[in-house]
This record gives sequence, structure tokens and C-alpha cells, in this order.
Amino acid sequence: MTAAAPTSAGKTPLLGLTRPALAAALVASGVPEREGRMRASQIWHWLYQRGSTDFAAMTTLSKGLRETLAGHFVIGRPEIVTQQISADGTRKWLLRMGPGVEVETVFIPEEDRGTLCVSSQVGCTLTCRFCHTGTQKLMRNLTAGEIVAQVMVARDALDDWPAGKGGAAQRRLTNVVMMGMGEPLYNFENVRDAIHIMADGDGLALSKRRITLSTAGVVPMIERAGNEIGSMLAISLHSARDDVRDEIVPLNRKYKIAELMAACRAYPGLSNARRITFEYVMLKGVNDSPDDARRLVRLLEGIPAKINLIPFNPWPGAPYACSDWEVIETFADIVNAAGYASPIRTPRGRDIMAACGQLKSESVKARASDALNARLAANSSAPAHVE
Ligand code: SAH
Repeated sequence: MTAAAPTSAGKTPLLGLTRPALAAALVASGVPEREGRMRASQIWHWLYQRGSTDFAAMTTLSKGLRETLAGHFVIGRPEIVTQQISADGTRKWLLRMGPGVEVETVFIPEEDRGTLCVSSQVGCTLTCRFCHTGTQKLMRNLTAGEIVAQVMVARDALDDWPAGKGGAAQRRLTNVVMMGMGEPLYNFENVRDAIHIMADGDGLALSKRRITLSTAGVVPMIERAGNEIGSMLAISLHSARDDVRDEIVPLNRKYKIAELMAACRAYPGLSNARRITFEYVMLKGVNDSPDDARRLVRLLEGIPAKINLIPFNPWPGAPYACSDWEVIETFADIVNAAGYASPIRTPRGRDIMAACGQLKSESVKARASDALNARLAANSSAPAHVE
């Protein structure tokens, strides 16, 4: 469970507390022990079903309790630094989680669904060579509250609260993919707690079948993800050859493809109804030959799988190009002929740098020397040069 760090005003952020953690926090603030669980459920309803940001509006709670809550807790939302809307309707938000801590979240509307691509870390440690986020050093993990808050910002912007004033029968945001910035399995507890809140019927009430966690292949955490999170799983595979994958997904040097496949075969809950999605970014001349396609098919044999072919999305300075369209189609034909559904993902939101692998924020971790220089500069009221 993630302990919510008190804010500077000494108040605890409510978003991201699991139900038991919230009940415990309520009791610690003076709510009678026997009421803890019930009050926690009521508060969850206001937070996650109605999108309330103000305790005063929580009219099923007594006035006294509302005042107690306001004295101990904060709800809040991250600040929206920018919102961009693509020509194709994709939206991207740059959210500020704290001073200098910024992440991107992307909403992709489709005919039959609306998918939110959520970030788990500020920056990333994995340095995948085709990924823009990989060029941004890890600044820090997001808290569970900061992860669920991304869904809440989207629901605010889309007027999409199930029990809110919009109250439309048809939800706009129906699916979540943990495919934004960062490696979710390197922020396990916070991602787990956040997904539980997203999937809980009294929480954000998205089903676990509509939440997908994507990993570059942190093998030792995959079984735990199945047991403790239970969402759908996606693997960023991108090559069936260790020599190629070592280059483009450096994590492969630590966990080889054979180990990764063994973890996939053992993924708890895997079945034909709950397949693993294998993501495969099409890089010109790197991993896109018919032979690569045949190797992929052989590698996945026996695993209930879907294959997602992602045309490479360019970014400034990227060392790769996207495979030609005919090459992607030939690849897809081989994979289809082997019996796999392998949709070629239409790039969405490229014009606003919102497509897969294009996310990046300016946030950088200040080096100790930077902090020292800043302090020196701030303290130096004396002239820099004394002759
Ligand atoms: N770290 C996790 C979550 C990020 S998901 C993971 O690797 O799965 C982001 C997805 O977009 C991954 O499948 C990633 O490999 C893919 N991707 C990254 N850069 C891309 C690019 N430039 N073009 C297309 N897909 C890209």
C-alpha cells in the first residue's frame, strides 16, 4: 500500500488511497473505527463516480464529517499545463504533478471505444532506441494518486463522470492502457493500487478486461502482475531475435526472449479469452523482413496471443525510419496466415506528438551540482567579481 505523503499544508491527498488505506486514514483523523469502511465507500463514490473535487459537495456525509475531511485531506487535480487536440480527435494533456514534474496523457477516441494512454513514470530508465520517452532520464515514479488523476483529468475534460452532471449513458473513456511514459512494472505497487481503483466498481469502474498494462519485459514482475493486478497484459516485443532485441530494447540484455516467453506462458489467467498482446514496432530494415515475421510466428506458438503491428512514429533525432507500407502488409499477411489477428495500428495524434513512443516532457532531475549552483546563485548578493 502506498503511504500518501502529506502535502506542504500537512494535508493528505485522498486520490490513490486504496479502500483499506482510506478507511485507516479516516479513523486516524477521528472517524469512529466501526464507520471507517462505510465512510470510505461513500467518499469513493463522490471521488470516483461523481468526480467531486470539493468536500462541501459530499452531501451524503454530515456537515461535521465534511469539515473534518477538509481539515485533514485534499482532493485536487494536477494542473493542466497544455491541452492539444489532433486533427483526428486525439487529445494530449501535459500535466504538472508538482514543481518541475510533468507527464503526458493521451486520449484516443474510436468508433466503439475511447482509450486513455496513461503514464506511470516521469521519464524512463529503459532507453529503448526507437522511443522518445527513452531519451528522457527517469525523474521519479508517479504515485498511485497521480496515476488515477490522469483518468480523472480526462473524465473532467470529456464530461464523462458516470454519476456526474453529464451522466451520459454512453461512456466516452472506456479503456485504459498503461502505455504512456515509463515502465509500469518498475513502479509496481503504485501502478497496482491505481489499477485497483480504476477497476473497482465503486472506483473508476472500468473493468480489468479494459485495462492493459504494457511492459518492455520485466520478467521477474510478470507473474506478480498477473496475481496482484490481473489486468490484460501487453508485451513490447519488437523482435523475435535476441541480437536485434538487445539493440533496440536494451532490457533484453538482462532478460532474454526465452525467459520472457516462459513468463508469458505462465501468466496467471492466460486463456483464449484473455490473450496477451504482443506489440511490434515496424522499423525499416531492422525487424521487418518476412523472415522476421516467420520467426515471430514460431516464437509465439501455443501462446494465446494478439499481435499489434505499430508503424514507427518518428520524433526529432530518431535513429530509425518507419517500414514501407507494402513491407508492413507483407509482414501482417504472414502473421495473419498463421492464425493471429494482427491489426496494423493506425497512427493517431502524430501531428501533436501524441502517438506511441512520442511522449516526452521537459522534466529533468536536477543534478546535485545544479542544485548547488542554484543555491550559490541565490545567495550571492555580493558582486561576482571583486577586483
Ligand atoms: N515501458 C512500457 C510502456 C510504454 S508502452 C513498454 O515498453 O511496454 C509504449 C509502446 O509504444 C511500447 O510498445 C513501445 O515499444 C511503443 N513505442 C515506443 N516508441 C515508439 C515509436 N517511436 N513508434 C511506435 N511505437 C513506439
